[in-house]
Amino acid sequence: MHKNFKNIDKIVYGKGSFNQIDDILAPKRVENDKFMVFIVDKYFEGKDLADRIPAHDGDMVFFEDIDQYEPTTDQVDKLRDQILADKGLPAGIVGIGGGSIMDIAKALSLMVNNEGSSQLYQGLNLVKNPGIYHMGVPTVAGTGAECSMTAVLTGPVKKLGLKCDWTVFNQAVLDPELLATVDRNQWFYTGMDCYIHCIEAESGLYFNAYSKAYGDQALALCREIYLGDDAGQTLENDEKLMIASLFGGLSLTYSEVGACHAISYGLSKILGMRHGFANCIAFNHLKEFYGEAVDEFKTMIETHKVDLPQGLSKEWSEETIDAMVEVSYNLPHMWNHAIGLDWEEKWTREDIKKIFKRL
Ligand code: NAD
Ligand code: ZN
Repeated sequence: MHKNFKNIDKIVYGKGSFNQIDDILAPKRVENDKFMVFIVDKYFEGKDLADRIPAHDGDMVFFEDIDQYEPTTDQVDKLRDQILADKGLPAGIVGIGGGSIMDIAKALSLMVNNEGSSQLYQGLNLVKNPGIYHMGVPTVAGTGAECSMTAVLTGPVKKLGLKCDWTVFNQAVLDPELLATVDRNQWFYTGMDCYIHCIEAESGLYFNAYSKAYGDQALALCREIYLGDDAGQTLENDEKLMIASLFGGLSLTYSEVGACHAISYGLSKILGMRHGFANCIAFNHLKEFYGEAVDEFKTMIETHKVDLPQGLSKEWSEETIDAMVEVSYNLPHMWNHAIGLDWEEKWTREDIKKIFKRL
């Protein structure tokens, strides 16, 4: 069976496109109980961008803190319950932030129309009813969450996305100016999520010409941004990074992630390590899977003098490592791609444990 991929309905791209949000939302405001919900990264509270959010009377604006934990099922359930209880069914949800905030917005747009906890819907095509209109406005680029068909949430049992056609944004607003304030390390870690998506997509079973076309372009952009003559955090490079993130996401959507994300999910679920950072920690030690790309990655780390701690595993108990191994082992779709459909015959929990011990 081939994937029947649902793309974003509309995309606006370019410096200052944030200013078009009000016009884009205007025709949608008549729907349901006629108010908009803005889910905004808490970083922007009290900053200039907060004053530019086109909230009308009756709209709800939530500044969500995503620094303690990656988005959780509990966080989404609470927001959903509050919105429905206070004001009813919104006309639409707008997520302004990185992958974390965009995933909250995507999940909320589904959960306002679906009963019970979002935990019930972690997986593929488990959501029963279509969600409402939703818009994604990335403020840090690389995850591809702006175009993917999943809203990744951490629940009590698993870190897994709510994945279905209705998850995909109706509208993406890609304004590279919003990336200007991102801390240099974070700009690197999240950008590397894009680079790693492309490398993982091309290093496995599900790779194909669709994935390659987008992945090649995204990798070429990453190489200009992180290794080119004008490498660095500039507006010109952020214009490229916005598109690299989108194309990396599209490349991935038509292929699959592999070993790096499987290890990274273990680090995030058990230690609460942030996604882009966890990917970098893992990718640095996965030469048997990604070969020269790991050398290229190390050059990028050196070029940008990024903090990448080593020897972390010395501090981890056997119990902690085993818990991470378990999370990682239970991602069969990633190992299928990375190793092959017979991966269980070639790859054991012990092999995964050896990788964690290298970190
Ligand atoms: P993030 O959303 O977790 O944010 C990282 C940090 O950057 C936070 O401290 C945030 O406050 C800050 N930040 C964001 N924008 C800023 C700005 N303009 N200026 C200053 N600071 C800013 O980062 P991310 O790497 O984009 O997202 C990671 C999350 O995305 C994880 O939860 C991961 O699971 C998820 N993810 C989802 C998908 C998907 O397809 N849905 C894909 C990859 C990752
Ligand atoms: Zn990723």
